[in-house]
Amino acid sequence: MTSPLQSGGDAATPSPRAAGALTIREARRQLAERLRAAGCDTPVLDARLLVEAVIEGGRTEDDALIGDQAAADLDSFAARRLAGEPVWRILGEREFWGLTFKLSPATLEPRPDTETLVEAALDSLRERRGEALSILDLGTGTGCLLIAILSELRQAKGLGIDLSGEACEVAAANALANGVGDRAAFREGDWVKGLDGRFDLIVSNPPYIPGAEIPGLDVGVRDYDPLLALDGGVDGLDPYRRFARDLPQFLAPGGIVVFEIGAGQEPDVSALMRSEGFHYHGARKDLGGHERALIFSR
Ligand code: GLN
Repeated sequence: MTSPLQSGGDAATPSPRAAGALTIREARRQLAERLRAAGCDTPVLDARLLVEAVIEGGRTEDDALIGDQAAADLDSFAARRLAGEPVWRILGEREFWGLTFKLSPATLEPRPDTETLVEAALDSLRERRGEALSILDLGTGTGCLLIAILSELRQAKGLGIDLSGEACEVAAANALANGVGDRAAFREGDWVKGLDGRFDLIVSNPPYIPGAEIPGLDVGVRDYDPLLALDGGVDGLDPYRRFARDLPQFLAPGGIVVFEIGAGQEPDVSALMRSEGFHYHGARKDLGGHERALIFSR
């Protein structure tokens, strides 16, 4: 049987002692071994995070016994991880821009590459940092983009929209937990349908995976990120077509638009936006060297 973590090996490592009689260090090493044998890319890190999560109060002495309850919790986390569930899903939260975001089945897991978009937006607005800017985040998910930007632009306020009401609730809780709850609002909606107002910054990390590619994605993405957050239609460009057509009336004078894109989409997305009269200010690359965030104005 092939493991969802891509392995060949036998993941079971029988323990001669009751699980609760292992030290924390032993439990962590055993789990890392099982994850490695199952083909996990980051077995040591995942084992550390999962062990920390089951120990009350997080880190404790490595030589202490892990205890029966923590060992049982760790077993169930290990089974989930071995079935392909991403470690951050199991933990129920993920860090982004140095802030912590709760996840739910209705939200995409924030990815480090998406921080490129935050950098691009802040850079484009650096001369206006002190202004009371208004920000719109389309497809807000956990709210990570809007909340990260509001955490930097202390005079700004913003609105996050998502098709999922549950995502909006998660995002609102994340805004509160990260200290920007009084400057962030969230609403359920179909992109900008029914929206009023103009914004100085519009950001979006929309679903951009071509539909036919979804079955071939990693199990941790395909089976655990919401389909709604991934599926960009036949060619992955559906959301950008909507944006190119609908966004002009929502952009304030001097405003900018920043989108995340998928691999290889820069020519198409920049052309779509230009065809509706936007000026293209270029792309910012992510740490992997891919063009990730595209910047536009009117
Ligand atoms: N804006 C959220 C993020 O970047 C959600 C994106 C999405 O659901 N496609 O994580």
